Amino acid sequence: MTAHKSGYFTHADCRRHEMGQGHPECPERLDAIEDRLLISGVGDALERLEAPCAALDDIRLAHDRLHIAALRGMELEIAEQVQAGGSGYAHIDADTAMNAHTWAAAQRAAGAAIAAVDAVMAGELENAFCAVRPPGHHAGKAGASGFCFLNNVAVAARYALERHGLQRVAVVDFDVHHGNGTEDILAGDDRVLMVSFFQEGLYPFSGTTPRGANMLNVPLPAYARGAQAREVVEQQWLPRLDAFRPEMVFISAGFDAHREDDMGQLGLVEADYAWITTRLRELALRHAHGRIVSCLEGGYNLSALARSVEAHLRALADL
Ligand SMILES: [Zn+2]
Repeated sequence: MTAHKSGYFTHADCRRHEMGQGHPECPERLDAIEDRLLISGVGDALERLEAPCAALDDIRLAHDRLHIAALRGMELEIAEQVQAGGSGYAHIDADTAMNAHTWAAAQRAAGAAIAAVDAVMAGELENAFCAVRPPGHHAGKAGASGFCFLNNVAVAARYALERHGLQRVAVVDFDVHHGNGTEDILAGDDRVLMVSFFQEGLYPFSGTTPRGANMLNVPLPAYARGAQAREVVEQQWLPRLDAFRPEMVFISAGFDAHREDDMGQLGLVEADYAWITTRLRELALRHAHGRIVSCLEGGYNLSALARSVEAHLRALADL
């Protein structure tokens, strides 16, 4: 019997990773979410759990050995740099940097998603949200980019397939940016159906041409509102997802498509996130015993992020 309970995985290490003053992907994102859950009382309805570190063998289900070795090597280099009085940052691209805590945070973020899979498969939880950073959906097989180091959702999706013997899992991505890293890892893997929408012409400038038949990518024009996103979910995502009959649903839950988020120009609001999440919960109840593992991706306007996560969690927990 499945418990009708929603889990909330996080870890203090996820707060210690930061990429320099003024960077939008900041530790305060998690504080804003925590505050909101506390004030609203939603936190009380969730089972709060500590994220473990992902095992290297599990991370390798989605990433090349060289990528993992590079991140670990970079961590040592930063530690030496800090001892020598240096900045303590190693830059990977123009807006992605590591500090001394990044590797630990990345392992906790992926570990949260893996532990969530275990708990949901064991029936201890119906579904779970991972309040983690760094986010993951721009991290590909071989590289970190776009604020992402390990692809938490792709690692956990492969983990569900390989370690729990599932045959079909769905990945749903509603971040304003295309989940190019997830596509890089999962395109061509017929055990996975990935559906997404994202703002066309925005970073990482991909997605318009899907890289595999198992990818349903729907670009939205700038200034599209929630109604247009809901139409995509109803008319394009759900028919494909229902035909696929996933045994578990993963969500790359980015909230930067919110109207108040300057990272993109889409016009979603909290009610849209609640509506989408409710449709996904119904889908999961139809095919997957309700099993959903949702991982935080983007969302940079702190107030809008916190309100949207609350709406997402209310729908997941059926509050
Ligand atoms: Zn994003």
